[in-house]
Parts: sequence; structure tokens; C-alpha cells
Amino acid sequence: GGVDEDPLLAGLNPEQRTAVEYRGPALLIVAGAGSGKTRVLTHRIASLIESREAWPSQILAITFTNKAAAEMRERVGALLGQVAEGMWISTFHSACVRILRREAENFGFTKSFTIYDSHDSRTLIKRIIKDLQADTYGFTVAGVAGKISKLKNELADADSYARTANFNDPQEELFVQIFRQYTRSLNAANAFDFDDLIGQTVYLFRAFPHVAEHYRRRFRHILVDEYQDTNHAQYALIHELTRPVPEANKAEAASSGHRTAGLPGASLTVVGDSDQSIYAFRGADVRNIVEFERDFPGATVVLLEQNYRSTQNILAAANAVIQNNFDRKDKKLWTDIGDGDKITGFTGYSGHDEAQFVADEIAKLRDSGTAYKDIAVFYRTNAQTRALEEIFIRSAVPYRVLGGTRFYERAEIKDVLAYLIAVANPRDALALRRILNTPKRGIGPATETALAVFAENNDISYRDAMRRANELGLGPKVTGAILDLADLLDLATEMLDPEREDGAATVSEILTLLLERSKYVQTLRAGRDPQDEARAENVEELVAVTKEFQKNNPEGGLLDFLTEVSLVAAVDELDDSSGTVSLMTLHTAKGLEYEAVFLTGVEEDLLPHRMSASEPGGPAEERRLFYVGITRARRRLYLSLAMTRAQFGETAVAMPSRYLQEIPAELIDWKQSPGMANSRGGTQPRALNSNRPGGGSYNSRSAIRSGDSLSFRDQDRAGLPRAKVEWPNRVTAQVRDNGDLELQAGDRIRHADFGEGRVSAVTGEGTKRVAHVAFDAAGSKKLLIKIAPIEKI
Ligand code: ATP
Ligand code: MG
Repeated sequence: GGVDEDPLLAGLNPEQRTAVEYRGPALLIVAGAGSGKTRVLTHRIASLIESREAWPSQILAITFTNKAAAEMRERVGALLGQVAEGMWISTFHSACVRILRREAENFGFTKSFTIYDSHDSRTLIKRIIKDLQADTYGFTVAGVAGKISKLKNELADADSYARTANFNDPQEELFVQIFRQYTRSLNAANAFDFDDLIGQTVYLFRAFPHVAEHYRRRFRHILVDEYQDTNHAQYALIHELTRPVPEANKAEAASSGHRTAGLPGASLTVVGDSDQSIYAFRGADVRNIVEFERDFPGATVVLLEQNYRSTQNILAAANAVIQNNFDRKDKKLWTDIGDGDKITGFTGYSGHDEAQFVADEIAKLRDSGTAYKDIAVFYRTNAQTRALEEIFIRSAVPYRVLGGTRFYERAEIKDVLAYLIAVANPRDALALRRILNTPKRGIGPATETALAVFAENNDISYRDAMRRANELGLGPKVTGAILDLADLLDLATEMLDPEREDGAATVSEILTLLLERSKYVQTLRAGRDPQDEARAENVEELVAVTKEFQKNNPEGGLLDFLTEVSLVAAVDELDDSSGTVSLMTLHTAKGLEYEAVFLTGVEEDLLPHRMSASEPGGPAEERRLFYVGITRARRRLYLSLAMTRAQFGETAVAMPSRYLQEIPAELIDWKQSPGMANSRGGTQPRALNSNRPGGGSYNSRSAIRSGDSLSFRDQDRAGLPRAKVEWPNRVTAQVRDNGDLELQAGDRIRHADFGEGRVSAVTGEGTKRVAHVAFDAAGSKKLLIKIAPIEKI
């Protein structure tokens, strides 16, 4: 470029420039992986600010992870030469928490609401299922949690769902009851679950126009990365934020003193790649991208085709794989980086053998100058990390697992956080019940429940119930223990008061007080379980985290700390400076890039995962996941598999993934396990040479390809107006209709959640037939035959 060229435009190709320079209502950038979508967003933000067309505070940029947000903030800062204060660059969830903390008092919550993660939600659901004895009707925690989450992502609540539910079906009726009770419990606890964060913000905007108007006036430029993975609730949120502000009528304005000027809707930029949509299971809806032009009239579309990340060989493999998905706009990525090395393929005897290959290749990469931090290992399921970790430890390969059992999910950390939450939010019964007898103070489950009933009957918070423990007629010891705990929490609450003489206590001061008085760590240290020492260390690590937090946020209070903790996403634990190999699931890998990528377990039952293989649209989604994995690699790509794999509790023969044969053979250089040199040459795994992967006798599931091209879900949804789509009902009705299933006492069946069992009796008639089943492992259950996820075996 010329000397006087805008530095924000230098280093961009013409299409990318068009996107950066666009000024108008709506811009859609659709492009394949690695084509600079995220880069364009970053440059666009910087350009808007530098040209003074926007104040930083008028910008709202949405990224998929907190880490991506931090990176974008940093890059914008670097482009501008200074950090722009007041910009909102965050995930959907963090943006919504910020809004809700300010506005929740409008609708019956307080700003100190708790955020329930999926574990908390499940604890609550488990309790409700038990209370309603719904387990005997085949309800499982996972099933209910999944269904509620899907409904919320479609912006359905218990009431709206009830209006469409079929009450001739007792199962439906029971589900509505569970959903209602769950909602009531959340409200009573002053808590939002993860899906609520988005849904309740949408609700807030719809119910309180003046609140919505405030944010519409504020955010003039809204930019969304990874738009292909937004679900309906997130889509609706964007829609709300980009509505125009009408001119207020004169009389109203005069009386309120407000400005009268109307405003056009905010300018919206979204970028995405429908080939990388991998969150359908969480309600992501590719139609949001496909229908953007219809939803946002006047939209400009920019296509990017040049890939700047990967070599041509890697892209050729990616293109070859993804073009097997029907129903997509054909687009081919190209690069001028050159062919690069061939992809390396490897088949091991076992998962360990495969892991050894990965470790050996990492050593070679290191020798040729690739740093550990530029290497990543991907897998489909977390269970696959065990073999990798064992070998890496033995081979002294430094590594980090992103998003495994995370620090914040450990029981001891959740205990201690529950103390903090109980201080911040006195209505949070879940947190209070968790700490009531942790560490043990002789308070049993009956007392725990008695307090809940007392709170409910007197319409007071759980913490108030604790304060009035002496009205419950409990023994003096138990009463004393409850009152002591309530006193401790009250003391901590007082210390948070900014009016206090020495000012509000810091988070670490509060935490230290709670730990000392509750004797939590002391009790752990005195324990006999060898794991307890490690647990105590984790708690101390948390104390260190609070100190670190206080250093970085001198003004930050307890709520800020809890918010931050609740929103940490898997990928956020990545430590940039670390010289370690990164291990992560394919889902976590989205948006990232590495010099060298190992994609392991490229086998049937893993990729596609056996849960998705038979599901409508499943194999196509799994193919996109494979595509995401391949396109993370800059220079070197390794695809590996094992002939046998320990999985689901047993070692089984594994078959090469159907997707492998979609990659042209000349792109892959196959290596075999050292011990297999005689049995096969350096060619593709044998099964790949037959017509379909898995060859002859292998389980027929691998042959099912109908899901790829023909799924009722996709068909159902195409062309339907959005509002009519209520697919949770639809799927339940269609997939689980065992209306004709012949069952009688003595039959053996398999249930999706409970495993195998024997039918002891069948009662009822028609659609209300119930099977009484003695499950081998799960005990006896009553199942509504029509809809239970069962098959005869
Ligand atoms: P994904 O779909 O995986 O999220 P993306 O489209 O967001 O990818 P980016 O991550 O923005 O792509 O860019 C991929 C890589 O290419 C980055 O390293 C980026 O810096 C680089 N890049 C993008 N555009 C250019 C360009 N015009 N010149 C040089 N490098 C570029
Ligand atoms: Mg990106």
C-alpha cells in the first residue's frame, strides 16, 4: 500500500476492506474458516473509534468465549495505540449479566442474584424430580435439564409451554409441573440459570420499553462473531437491541423532560460460517445466518474466500470433507501459502499406542523448532484424555487440559463458593442448603428439609428461616449449630457494608473469615482421605484467586467476583504465556488456531459420536465438527485412530471414521503402528478400501447415512415461519413414539438412561400403557411405553 494508507486497512484484502469500511444498517460477513472474519471485526471496531464515528461506549461486540473477548479487546487496543475504555466486548452471557445486575430489580430479583451453572440446575431438578416422584415415570435429571434448556433457548417458559402441551399425556403434564416448580425455585432463590441470562434479558426488554430504549440509545454498533452458533434467544436479543427508537411525542417529552429525538436501529455486523455450526444440541440455529437478509432488510453481504491460516493440503482436506454435507452453499477455501506438508495419518493398536504416536511426533516437532504452545491435541470426548495424559506424563510432554474437570466444578470449590453466595444472596436456598452441614455440624437432611418447609410456610428466605431455628422445636445442639452459621453469614454481610467504619471488607477478607470460623480447611486437613490434602490446597488456591482478583479490580466487590467466576468458560483457562501443549475437545477448539494440530480418535462411535450417529442431522453436525478441527491447523495436521479402544467401560474394536474416506487419499501420508509393519503397508487403514468404512460385519449403525441428507428435523424446519417452530415437542413426539411396541412380562428391554432390564408387568391401555421394569442396575421403574426411550432386546 501507499505511504499515506490507513494503517487499519493495510494488511487487508479488498473484500475485508469493504467490510471494515462499510457504513450502514446491517452487514453480514459469511466466509469459511480462517478467512479473517474475526480480524475484520477487530479492525472494524478500531476504525469506527479512530474515525470518531463512534464512542467506545457505543460499541457492543459479542464473542463466543471470554478469552476471545479479551483477545479482541487487546487487539483493538493495539490497533488504536491505547486501550479504549467503556467498550463492551464480551460474550452474550457476560453482557446479559451486566444488564441484569443493573435492571433485575425491575422484575422481582435483586442485583445480587446468583447464577446457577448446569451442575446447580441439575441439583435443583434432581430434588424436584424426587419430590414429585417423577423418576418412577421415567424422568431423568439429564433428560429434564436438557428439555428445559432447549425450551428456554426457544424463549419458551413453563406457562407458554403449558399452553401447547398435550395434557392427555400424563408424562407431559408431569413435565410441566417439574418445569413450573423449577422456575418457582429459581425465582425464590433470586437465581438465574445459564439459559435465563439471555432469555430474561429479552423478557426485560420486551416488558420494560424504557429499559430497552436506554440500551438501544447506548449501543449504536453491535458486532457478533460466530453468528452461526447463536440460538433463538440470542437472535431475539440482538433483534431487541437493534430496534429503532421512535420519536417521543411532544406532550410526553415535555412532562418527563426527556429528549424527543428518535434514532434509527443500531448498525449490526455479524460474521459466521454455517459450516462451523456445531452447537445445534444447544439450540443453535443456522437459519439465523441463512435468513439474515430477510430479517434485516437492506443488509449488505460480504464474502471472504481467501484463507490466511492453513496450507493448501489442509484446506483441500477440509473442503473435501465438508462438501459431503448437502444443504449448504458451496464455497471453496483457497490460500497462497502453498501446498505444505501432507497430512499425517496413523492407526494404532490401542488408544495408548495412538497417544504414544502423538507424543513421539510432538518430540519431532519440538526438534524442528515448533514450540509446545503452538501444538494442540483435539478429541471428541473428555474420556479420551486419560491415555494421552498418561503417555504425556511418562514422556515429559508439558500439557494443559482445557475444560476437563474444571477447577470451579470441584466439590470443595463449590462448597466454598456456596459460602460466598450465601452471604451475597440470602434467598439462595441451594447455596445455604449446601453449606448447612458442610463441614459436618450434625445437621441432618430432615432438618434441612424442615427449614425449607418453614421458609415456604412463612414466606421468608431460607436464611431467615435459619435465624428463627429455635421456633422449629429442634434439639438444642442442632439449633445452636444453625444459629451459629446464620450469625457467621450475618457477620460477613455486615462486613460488606460500604458504610462500615473501615469501608467494605475485600472479597479475600470475607473468604478468610468464613473459612476460619467455619473450620472448613481445618476439617479437611484433619480428614483421613488422602485426597483431602489436595482439596485443602485447592481451597487455598481459591483464596489466592480472590487476592489476584482484588489486585486487578481494586474497586471490585463480592458480586463482581462471583460474576467473574460464574462466567469463566472452558477455553478461558488457557494461560497464554505457558509453554504447554493444549488438549481440548473439538467443541472447545472453535475460533482458535495452532501451528500443528493432532486430531485423535477419528473413529466411528467417536466421530461421529455414537449418540449422534442415529440422530437426525447428527452425522452432518459431526462432520462440521471434524471440519472445525481440521481448519484449526496452520501448517501440520495429524489424523489418528486406534484399532481397539477402551470406551464406555469396555474395550471394543474401533472402526475408522466414515469421514476419513472423504479425504482424497493422496493428501494423507499413512503411517502404521511400529508393530504392524508386516500386517499392512503404509496405506490407509484397511477398512477404508472397502465400500464403506467398517466393511462387512461391523455394526450397521455406521452404514446409516440417511441422517446426512435427509432428516425430518431439517425438513420440518425449512420454510416454516420462525414463531411456529416448537421443536422440542416435535422431536419428542416423533422420535419417541413406541405406540405399537409389543411388550409383556418377561421381555427384556434397553432404556437410553437406565440400561437393560426385565419387564415385570404391563398395565393400562392404549397410549397410557405402563411397563413396570426391573432394571439390572437402576432398580425398578414405571415407564410410559408410548414415549419412554426404550427398545426391546
Ligand atoms: P474462524 O472461522 O476459524 O473463526 P476467521 O475467519 O475468524 O476464522 P481469523 O482468525 O480472523 O479467521 O484469521 C485467520 C488467520 O489469518 C489469523 O491468523 C489472521 O491474523 C490471519 N489473517 C486474516 N486476514 C489476513 C490478511 N488479510 N493478511 C494476513 N493475514 C490475515
Ligand atoms: Mg474467527
